[in-house]
Amino acid sequence: MTSQDRRPAAQTADLDLAVGFAIPARDARGRIVRLGPVLDEVLSAHDYPAPIARILSEALTLTALLGAMLKDVGGQLTMQAQTESGIVELLVCDYRGGELRGYVRFDADRLAGVSALPSLQAMFGKGYLAITFDQETSGERYQGIVPLEGNSLADAAQNFFSQSEQIPSLVRLAVNDTGHVAGGILLQHLPEGEEGRDRLHTRLDHPEWDHVRILAETIKAGELVDPALSLETLIWRLFHDEEEIRLLAGVPLSRGCRCDPEHVRQVLRRFPQEERLEMADGGGIITVDCEFCSRNFPIKLSELDE
Ligand SMILES: [Zn+2]
Repeated sequence: MTSQDRRPAAQTADLDLAVGFAIPARDARGRIVRLGPVLDEVLSAHDYPAPIARILSEALTLTALLGAMLKDVGGQLTMQAQTESGIVELLVCDYRGGELRGYVRFDADRLAGVSALPSLQAMFGKGYLAITFDQETSGERYQGIVPLEGNSLADAAQNFFSQSEQIPSLVRLAVNDTGHVAGGILLQHLPEGEEGRDRLHTRLDHPEWDHVRILAETIKAGELVDPALSLETLIWRLFHDEEEIRLLAGVPLSRGCRCDPEHVRQVLRRFPQEERLEMADGGGIITVDCEFCSRNFPIKLSELDE
């Protein structure tokens, strides 16, 4: 790698972006994502301790990697980590049309008693990772669930694909705590004709897959979170000896939530009058929370009369 491949630090355009690529000769396709201001926006709505901010940053990066795979632009991807005994009780992230949001419910007292960099086991205990794909056009919904095992969320996601989906996959996630930058790569082996759920003949030890997997494994955490390094350059660094790399159009990512007072009113109007009365406080106000935004929506009962 020569010095001219390095772009000046001023060009920090490759933040909040997902770039897809394919290596046709190896039946491989992948995504690289880097998040910056999106993380700031999500995290600024909360006051999370560093280990929680870190796990949410990883989870948002993973959600962006998976969400950017949706062919249906209006489709939604939801990732939930649920635990029975962990410090993290619930972690939810979702993606729709390039918009990301997420939050974490956790036990602050127990978190205070662990090390600065707790293991996945310490954070989640016995937990599960559920990934749900909702297609807007067909209305189809598919959910896969795997135990939260391994050393990291990236390991758990790799298990999701290899166990639940039978797709050989590599997932790497990196977070730079100081600058609120996170990055990730997802690489998958998808031989021709094995789209969809029919993958009975996929071999997890395919030589073409091994070749690209080993190349992708050379990626460094520092490269994933270096805003001065364009995602395209990063893909080129990893796979420059391949005869053909197809780059797909980048998907810009932003922070977005679907909560708004009018939507809340619409939802509340679906409840019968007596239930609305039960939900309201003595002053006739129903308070609805959005956990993603840490915002309250006080709605007067009188606003609900059509
Ligand atoms: Zn919200």
